Amino acid sequence: MNIAIGSDHGGVELKAALVNALAGAAKVVDMGPADKASCDYPDYAAKVAKAVASGEADFGILVCRSGIGMSMAANRFQNVRAAVCQTTDAATITRQHNGANVLCLGADVVSPSYAVEIAKAFIATPVDESERHARRRWKLERAERLSDCSGLMREDPEVFATIEAQTKQEDAEINLIASENTSSRACREAAGSVLMNKYAEGYPGKRWYSGCLPVDAAEELARKRACELFGAEHANVQPHCGSAANMAVYFATIKPGDTIMSMSLDQGGHLSHGSSVNFSGKIYNIVPYTVDPKTEMLDYDAMERQAMEVKPKILLTGASAYPRTIDFRRIREICDKVGCIMMVDMAHIAGLVAGGAHPSPVPYADFVTTTTHKTLGGPRGGMVLCKEKWAKALDSAVFPGMQGGPLENIIAAKAVVFREWMSDAKKGYAQQVVKNCQVMCKTVQDRGYRIVSGGTDNHLFLVDVKKSKGITGKEAAAALDAAGIIVNKNTIPYDTESPFKTSGIRVGTASATTRGMREAEMIKIGTWIADVLDNIADTTVQERVKREAAALVANFPVP
Ligand SMILES: *Cc1c(COP(=O)(O)O)cnc(C)c1O
Repeated sequence: MNIAIGSDHGGVELKAALVNALAGAAKVVDMGPADKASCDYPDYAAKVAKAVASGEADFGILVCRSGIGMSMAANRFQNVRAAVCQTTDAATITRQHNGANVLCLGADVVSPSYAVEIAKAFIATPVDESERHARRRWKLERAERLSDCSGLMREDPEVFATIEAQTKQEDAEINLIASENTSSRACREAAGSVLMNKYAEGYPGKRWYSGCLPVDAAEELARKRACELFGAEHANVQPHCGSAANMAVYFATIKPGDTIMSMSLDQGGHLSHGSSVNFSGKIYNIVPYTVDPKTEMLDYDAMERQAMEVKPKILLTGASAYPRTIDFRRIREICDKVGCIMMVDMAHIAGLVAGGAHPSPVPYADFVTTTTHKTLGGPRGGMVLCKEKWAKALDSAVFPGMQGGPLENIIAAKAVVFREWMSDAKKGYAQQVVKNCQVMCKTVQDRGYRIVSGGTDNHLFLVDVKKSKGITGKEAAAALDAAGIIVNKNTIPYDTESPFKTSGIRVGTASATTRGMREAEMIKIGTWIADVLDNIADTTVQERVKREAAALVANFPVP
């Protein structure tokens, strides 16, 4: 057992007595001060708190005249729970209930011998792991999920209000937007960090600015972890978003006017795959492929015939609203036959790929682009993976080709998330996302709703509400919104409604799964979706579902 101990000048003597008394039972590291010269208690509280927050020390002990200032200073650090104790009973109970891990003692308040007794009681008492105490400790850490932005309350109340509103919304609603997820606190900490202060045009080791060593290290971590996580030869983690990642690949490989064959937007593709209102559609000659009208799935033979005829420079696959597994091996065959570049945009499924719940495109594709904020659950941003032979062309397309300084704070947050995906805690998440999606999809389907392509293999499914109930996607999404269930309207293949109204809704399970929901909750939510859509104009149903949904989500706190 490691104990870090510190004091101010008023606590030096008691500290020495504690070090002596505890030395037999634990490894005690004295973090100072060594003498009674006047010093600042927050400095020593910070040393001890850092040792405990990082896990280096199991316990901390801090001594000043009252113990109070020390506890205030130490409690500024996350995962530190510092308690001032004047009795052995208080030490026992704060360990059991609050999981206190730093003991603060007042040299003016307790005798040296009693202080030793308090410390021994503190160290000997295990934390009570029962549900109600665990829940309260968890609330303590989160401070209503505002602890990472609580300074804004005073600095800028208007902006703070928007963050608070988003926090409340996340807490209260069931988010089924297929392109969203819920970031971890560690990810948000990196994203909000001082790394945002640095200009770092260029790449690690080769920047146009001085002072880049810290951000070089962060970007190097992100690149290395991305390659390790996805088994890629090269990673560029600088694209500001998924669309920019796609732009980088086009710029690295083809010329204006060249042909890209991609899935059209109304079939499930993405704006940046060649929509006429997007740069991609304005600069390049776009030839769209479609899904089979009967199966609503990709028809690889048809894709091959079309590609042989069109001879695109790039065959681009990947989508924003395609509920089925994509056969990357087959697409590689097509690209080899045509002699074109294979580009896969895995923005939606990157987390499933990382977690092994969808086959990886990385072994097959020349380029794989992605966002980092969808199923991957990281900061809002983009990334490109490619084969080594394309590395140089890609890097110069991103910088200086299309972007200036990279967002090193966001890049650090990407690194955090890549590491999360390599941890045991994340194992099984991707599989659970898919399982959840299939269970919810079947629940809705069994209530008589037509599901595009008849089901799902991934994190999303599309409901044809027009065919099922004669309502539009817009009406369906609005009714569900009123019931506390957030989805988006979405076109379905060969949609007869305008993109503004649509015939479908898109439903995804990444965010709900991040909150810890499983099959039983999916059945409930699927039932609510059907209840609301069955009675589209009935606000009492919406109100009932909203109440029940709020009660459910209260048990699944947002990270
Ligand atoms: C979301 C998405 C993108 C783009 O993401 P942004 O970060 O919003 O630019 C690109 N491709 C696909 C397939 C997507 O679903």
